[in-house]
Amino acid sequence: MIERRPDYYTQFRCLGGVCPDTCCRDWSVAPDEAALADYAAAPSPLRGRIAQNLVTDEDGDVCFRLDGRGLCALLTPDSLCAIQRDWGEAHLCAHCAAYPRFTEEYGCLTETALAVSCPEAARLLLEAPSFTLAETDDGRDDPPFDGVEPNLLAGLECSRARILALLDEGAGTIWEKLRTVLPHALDLEGCIGMGEYDRMVSVPLPPPLEPDPSRRQGPAVRLLNLLAGLDPLRPEWPELLKERAKQLSALSQADYLRLRADYERANPRWERQLTNLVCYLVFRHWHKTVNDDAVYGRAAFICAACTALYHLSLFQPGEEAVLWTRFSREVEHDENNLDELIWALSDPDAWPPAGLL
Ligand code: SF4
Repeated sequence: MIERRPDYYTQFRCLGGVCPDTCCRDWSVAPDEAALADYAAAPSPLRGRIAQNLVTDEDGDVCFRLDGRGLCALLTPDSLCAIQRDWGEAHLCAHCAAYPRFTEEYGCLTETALAVSCPEAARLLLEAPSFTLAETDDGRDDPPFDGVEPNLLAGLECSRARILALLDEGAGTIWEKLRTVLPHALDLEGCIGMGEYDRMVSVPLPPPLEPDPSRRQGPAVRLLNLLAGLDPLRPEWPELLKERAKQLSALSQADYLRLRADYERANPRWERQLTNLVCYLVFRHWHKTVNDDAVYGRAAFICAACTALYHLSLFQPGEEAVLWTRFSREVEHDENNLDELIWALSDPDAWPPAGLL
């Protein structure tokens, strides 16, 4: 079996009490059965505090209670987890112990990413000199899980490796590369639709789509408004998106191009940062196509994320990691929002590929 993860993975250390946006906010965490059983043996007074702060949600799951500010009720005034501080890390539930590590298993392949919804994971990705994967192979020839089509997974492996190489080392701007990825994904989806998985490994990369000649901000405005229409985790997020869409719309073409030029001049690493983000999204989402065949929708989602976050960064230079974190919490971690976005962007007539970039 092959195991893969980004090479900066081992550098991750939780920021604990100094985290600028703790993961112990807004999310209902449902402890696993083993953790719930463990809590019965917690030392006092922690045992009573845990028991008082476990509630049953509308789906019938037992979760940690969130207070009026959306913070986990077990968070201490110094922003530490009471279970970890007073009893030890070994007693965290599986979900809290793993975050921000997310593992996808395919039987023959296990991949772990650090979700950029965590500010420290976002910082590591932002500052990485390149997006490089570390891989180990135990030599065992495990088959894919039942339900995973082996040839589809092999086609996704091959296409993703080609795309990551193009993004990370290929010639051209990030926008030109993404204008290659989108039509390539459409070709791949054609192979998948015909059941011709073997052909995926030999589909050549097409030339980049022609850019939108107007070089205007209209498509980005439309994308920001699409994101603003998703179900928010925090109300500030759609407010920010609508405000930025309004500000972008109000710019003349000359001012829009000047804003971009000023941003790119002030942040010479902007293209590397965006490339790292795109590679992370491709790494994390591409193979999930085994569940629904929607490889073009995923490519479109990745391009849309890149375009939206680039345009948000124009107004908040230096706050790229903050914006990535917020986007990830609102979209990547909300299955309904992610599915809705992939579904909406899957229609090339409603969202022409060149307009996503
Ligand atoms: S968001 Fe990341 S750095 Fe912050 S508390 Fe959670 S795991 Fe630690």
